[in-house]
Amino acid sequence: MEKACKNCRRLITTGNECPICRSKDLTASWSGLLIVYDAESEIAKKVGITSPGRYAIRVRA
Ligand SMILES: [Zn+2]
Repeated sequence: MEKACKNCRRLITTGNECPICRSKDLTASWSGLLIVYDAESEIAKKVGITSPGRYAIRVRA
């Protein structure tokens, strides 16, 4: 089960730390999958993503 970073919503497959923002505040309670190939795309800018990768659309706070 992948975890999502509560801070930037990046999905983390291994380890307990977000590789993007270094947060350790991860959760398994997330839904929706957003795959970003281009951090310069409109959708990435809209949701504030700065690095390509897989992200959760919703993360339970
Ligand atoms: Zn993060």
